[in-house]
Amino acid sequence: MIVVMKKGATDEEVQHIVQRVESLGLKSHVIHGTERTVIAAIGEKREQTKESLISGAGVADVVPILAPYKVASLEVKPEPTCIQAGSLVVGAGTVGVIAGPCSVESEEQILSTAEAVKKSGATALRGGAFKPRTSPYSFQGLKEKGLQFLANARDATGLAVVTEVMATDEVELVAKYADVLQIGARNMQNYRLLEAVGNTDRAVLLKRGASATIDELLLAAEYILNEGNSQVMLCERGIRTFESHTRFTLPLATVVYLRQKTHLPVVVDPSHGTGHTELVPDMAAASIAAGTDGLILEVHPNPEEALSDGYQSLNFEQFEETMQQCRRIAEAMDRQLGS
Ligand code: PEP
Ligand code: MN
Repeated sequence: MIVVMKKGATDEEVQHIVQRVESLGLKSHVIHGTERTVIAAIGEKREQTKESLISGAGVADVVPILAPYKVASLEVKPEPTCIQAGSLVVGAGTVGVIAGPCSVESEEQILSTAEAVKKSGATALRGGAFKPRTSPYSFQGLKEKGLQFLANARDATGLAVVTEVMATDEVELVAKYADVLQIGARNMQNYRLLEAVGNTDRAVLLKRGASATIDELLLAAEYILNEGNSQVMLCERGIRTFESHTRFTLPLATVVYLRQKTHLPVVVDPSHGTGHTELVPDMAAASIAAGTDGLILEVHPNPEEALSDGYQSLNFEQFEETMQQCRRIAEAMDRQLGS
């Protein structure tokens, strides 16, 4: 249920309703909108809930939340959420650009990439230190050493660090170094992991599972939001279909659809979404035309020698050209690209 407070309802009135909601055995999420405050009361629906809340002082209305996801829905919060994590801004007219290699491979590699992408206008640095690889024999990442290299690159450039966390018992370690915790496609439905990142104060980039529906993505986000972490970005990174010319199929309608259903910002990953370097620039531009709030792009100093995902990575020059093209599209959409 959503308890919609009257315009000008006092803090005491809001607090009173929060206590009433919790005494009914429901969880409360207070959302301060520009117009008014609403309190989402989440939990199993009970007959008496509406009656016992509607008479509260300062309450304008009590309405059911129709969507299966609750805190993520536009019903609860009609204003889009803008997320800021260090140098990265995603939403509110700014298209955040997260760029960097698939994997952190060496200090020199991550530092030179950070400097290059920053120069071209990226607002955050990506790089995996813990890598979810299909084969156990593939490069698994530099682990904590990789995190240290990322943190050094942040110190040198000021770029916020986005990096993946794969396991619940590694959340604390990764959160020590990262500005944004990435949940990879393979872990989108690892519910204990979602709860664990929901209990940090770090923003989260939640990637869509390759076979997950949009509702499943939103319900996965709900696990994070339900723990009290409101800083969630949803990432469309392509889904598995019968098409084999591209690594995944990148459905940009997701961006438009999500905008109509959720206040959470959306980030598109054209690198994994296509799996081919030459397809990335135009799909990045198309993502901006579709209204994305952010891009995550794989960039490597020498893609041919990358330890992972080189075939879909841009080199520095290609990244610079991609940014130039994207900036023109962003301008046409009345948005600002990166910094
Ligand atoms: C990545 O970002 O390098 C990655 C592994 O992405 P995904 O989880 O979308 O496959
Ligand atoms: Mn990758």
